[in-house]
Amino acid sequence: MILVCGGAGYIGSHMVHELLRQGLPTAVLDNLQSGHKEAVHPKAVFLEGDVRDESALDQIMAHGVTDVIHFAANSLVGESVEKPLQYYNNNVHGMEVLLKAMVKHGVGRIVFSSTAAVYGEPSRVPIVEDDPAAPTNPYGETKLAMEKMMKWVEGAHGIRYVSLRYFNVAGALADGSLGEDHSPETHLIPLVLKVPLGLREQIGIFGDDYDTPDGTCIRDYVHVSDLAQAHLLALEYLRGGGASSILNLGSAKGFSVKAIIDAAEKVTGQTIKREIKPRRAGDPARLVADSARAKKILGWKPAYENVEEIIATAWNWHRLHPEGWADR
Ligand code: UDP
Repeated sequence: MILVCGGAGYIGSHMVHELLRQGLPTAVLDNLQSGHKEAVHPKAVFLEGDVRDESALDQIMAHGVTDVIHFAANSLVGESVEKPLQYYNNNVHGMEVLLKAMVKHGVGRIVFSSTAAVYGEPSRVPIVEDDPAAPTNPYGETKLAMEKMMKWVEGAHGIRYVSLRYFNVAGALADGSLGEDHSPETHLIPLVLKVPLGLREQIGIFGDDYDTPDGTCIRDYVHVSDLAQAHLLALEYLRGGGASSILNLGSAKGFSVKAIIDAAEKVTGQTIKREIKPRRAGDPARLVADSARAKKILGWKPAYENVEEIIATAWNWHRLHPEGWADR
């Protein structure tokens, strides 16, 4: 049984879908703070509970858990600056309790959802895994602390891990049955798509005076199903005896905010009104990942290489569910 912590969230729900599609028995632990019960696959064993709750972990691990995939964390940069203690408690303490339960129940493998935010302002792009980790906000700092905790716990207790550091996740399951639903929404692609849906008048561009070709920030967008696939490959790698690793996941291609809005206009066939706003605090100009190591070690091959295709899957989901899971 594979335990997905945070399996009711955006990436976690796509992960659970992929595991069950492969015929792998799956359990979900999610406190539904930002996840949605409707997003949990009906074939998964589901417990509403918190990773910081030892008894919830005892209960779910009693189902015969052999591996953990860990998504349950707070993940908003701005919020983490406002509420650092909440991030340390939920993310770092959560990892402590989870690893303690894994030691207790003899669970020896974990795939961890890390972030590009561990690098901070990158010294060069594309970023490689050995570049310095110097987070510029508590979100990245807590994810880095979680990675380090796994390293020391491996030394003492032998739990092997793969930590996947990724950048901008986007898109939805191709059939439109799963997708992104955050409240409040802060991410670029779902916000852009709210304009053609008639739910917003315009999209604000946070700064057009960056040192990039069109002046707007450049990001590396990866399809959520490709991410789920990478987690699955990481699990197979650990099951095959692979050594603990830290791997970037990205497309190696950067797209500016303006390029994303232009692509969304093509996909939706509508003009998307935009307005230049001030820069958002803490935004690096350019974040692009070199994923050569993940490709080599895991054999990861992203299926979605084109940002318009990624946006098209998101558009499909948002058109079918303009109010997200509330539409179910
Ligand atoms: N962004 C923007 N307008 C918005 C939301 C985001 O211009 O309404 C920009 C943001 O400044 C960043 C990029 O879009 O440069 C991606 O932001 P997002 O929040 O989606 O992801 P992040 O890069 O922060 O993980």
